[in-house]
Amino acid sequence: MYKHLYNCGEQVEWKRLIFNSKASPKSTFIGWLAIQNKLATKDILLKWNFSIDGKCGLCQLGDETPSHLFFSCQFSQEVWSLILQNLGVGRSILPWNDEVQRAVKKSRRSKNADCSYSIAFLETVYSMYLAAEELQVVQGSCLSC
Ligand SMILES: [Zn+2]
Repeated sequence: MYKHLYNCGEQVEWKRLIFNSKASPKSTFIGWLAIQNKLATKDILLKWNFSIDGKCGLCQLGDETPSHLFFSCQFSQEVWSLILQNLGVGRSILPWNDEVQRAVKKSRRSKNADCSYSIAFLETVYSMYLAAEELQVVQGSCLSC
């Protein structure tokens, strides 16, 4: 019976990044939603017929999609760039899907630096999402008010 149930779930490559994470539970949850494109970014809210502008909460320039918010947005690029520097990673910022792949690969390794990278990735995604939400409230268009 266990083997029958065990094989029911789809294998996902990001399993270790999310389920073995030492990041905060909030960050892990938001990261889990973002990786699956289920995070309530404005592009999704527009599909749900919310009456919003759809612009990025951080820069107000691009459309707020996961790929823009993490890490095509100039603001989030600056933050992620500083975090990469602090982690000793010398490379340019990659598109969202490539950054996810990097974090997934790091989560499969057991070195402390790789663990730190995975935590930093999830905490940064959470922080960028939270910052976009908070700026939206400050600018007077709170979605839940
Ligand atoms: Zn932006």
